[in-house]
Amino acid sequence: MAIDKRALLRAGLTAALATQAKGVTTAAKADASDGLSASIELSRDPDVLAVAADDFGHIIHKQARAVLKPASVADIAGLMRWAGWRGLKVAARGQGHSTYGRAMIEDGVVLDMNTISTIHHVQSDRIVVDAGATWSAVLNATLAHGLTPPVLTNYLELSVGGTLAVGGIGGTTFRHGMQTDNVLELDVVTGDGRELTCSANSNPDLFDAVRAGLGQCGVVTRATLRLVQAPERVRRYHLFYPDLRTLTADQRIVLADGRFDYLQGAVLPDGAGAWRYQLEGVVFYDGYAAPNDRTMLSGLSDDRGAAAISDLTYREDVNAFAQLEKLLRSNGQWFNPHPWLLTFLRGSNAEQVASDILDGLTNEDVGPFGRITYYPMLTKALRTPLLRLPNESVVFPFNLVRIPESNDVAKVAQMVAKNRALYDRICAAGGVQYPVGAFPMSSDDWKDHFGSTWLLLHEAKQRYDPLGTLTPGYNVHRD
Ligand SMILES: Cc1cc2nc3c(=O)[nH]c(=O)nc-3n(C[C@H](O)[C@H](O)[C@H](O)COP(=O)(O)OP(=O)(O)OC[C@H]3O[C@@H](n4cnc5c(N)ncnc54)[C@H](O)[C@@H]3O)c2cc1C
Repeated sequence: MAIDKRALLRAGLTAALATQAKGVTTAAKADASDGLSASIELSRDPDVLAVAADDFGHIIHKQARAVLKPASVADIAGLMRWAGWRGLKVAARGQGHSTYGRAMIEDGVVLDMNTISTIHHVQSDRIVVDAGATWSAVLNATLAHGLTPPVLTNYLELSVGGTLAVGGIGGTTFRHGMQTDNVLELDVVTGDGRELTCSANSNPDLFDAVRAGLGQCGVVTRATLRLVQAPERVRRYHLFYPDLRTLTADQRIVLADGRFDYLQGAVLPDGAGAWRYQLEGVVFYDGYAAPNDRTMLSGLSDDRGAAAISDLTYREDVNAFAQLEKLLRSNGQWFNPHPWLLTFLRGSNAEQVASDILDGLTNEDVGPFGRITYYPMLTKALRTPLLRLPNESVVFPFNLVRIPESNDVAKVAQMVAKNRALYDRICAAGGVQYPVGAFPMSSDDWKDHFGSTWLLLHEAKQRYDPLGTLTPGYNVHRD
């Protein structure tokens, strides 16, 4: 009697998904001639499912039917094809640092990319890595050769695939663009299970749809990332201002003259109900000739007595966030809900919009260790089509990095609602969101968000994920 191996596989995986036994990891096997991996292991271990049902936001919780820890890219391709046939959804999960359930799924399988995280090889201008690798692992490999990715996120324990799905912004973005602007080539498993390589010259439509494409068209499995020479040391200047106006004025000066290699800034709670206004500028240098502080800070009107200047190795500097993480883990606030709001304001009205919003915020809105990121950035280096920005030469990231002291559910719900109201206000003022915030978005909202690039994403979705299998957590496409 002829045996339909594919049907057997389907039956096996269905049984795997239907298994209710707790703590059991079920496996389904198929012959490689099916074009599917010889062994796909779907886990229903309650601990594994619980991890996949949570993220750094700790606001949304959705329990997947199963989790796949792929042993190979072929496993991912096999899962995509199988899930498509069954009408099930799939979402890749990197390090789970989303804040609003974007890598979660109820009616399907979470793809845990931690098992696809090999660092392959480093050349003088590039590194090839699997997409589940963290940026800290990437950096460890490159620094051994005196090299670095030109743009690093403030926190390095994010996965390459996770930040390429949204953009990847850092303090050098004004000069080098987003992390998505510094990708040379990607290997992708499409929503319909094809394994494709894409770049500016090969399958460019997929390349453009995957970078900052919210995981809608494919799972990135491998990335070739651009590298530059790493500086040996950095001199970091924290300058303080009495108000938003003076901070903004100096931020605009240093952005225009390019004296810093890295530029950020923030409005910080002072713990007594008021705000502190901070400019953060960094100079990279090699050897022992540290930059002259007087020259670096000339023409600026900060409160010089309050300035904090530090001199660090490049590695120490880019790992600075790890100290805050350690502190927040020890005081428990790392595990509280994090209803963040991340946006870009137009350069032409940023100060007014930020000032109006700040008037309605208290220290409690961000928590003692939270901050409101606020600094100007040139947009000319940003070329990723799906990364949305106000159409001006200077924009201001404006982010409510909320780290509440408690996990009061009612207060968190209020913050999520406030995020949405602030988002609407920011849009009305010509701003856009950086799509990692915690508030609900409808499919129509996403259409507005992507604006003139909506068609690019929509057509790529039809071409590469025609059954709508991938990444439902953003709610970008209606079923
Ligand atoms: C403490 C902290 C600091 C941060 N700092 C910065 C910063 O400085 N700059 C910045 O830009 N962002 C920053 N972020 C936001 C962060 O970049 C995004 O939330 C990012 O998506 C998280 O990466 P992750 O690996 O945790 O992804 P996950 O949360 O696991 O996934 C995020 C999204 O990407 C999709 N995805 C994951 N892997 C893949 C893949 N291989 N292929 C396709 N899609 C995939 C998921 O399905 C999901 O939709 C920060 C977040 C936190 C919590």
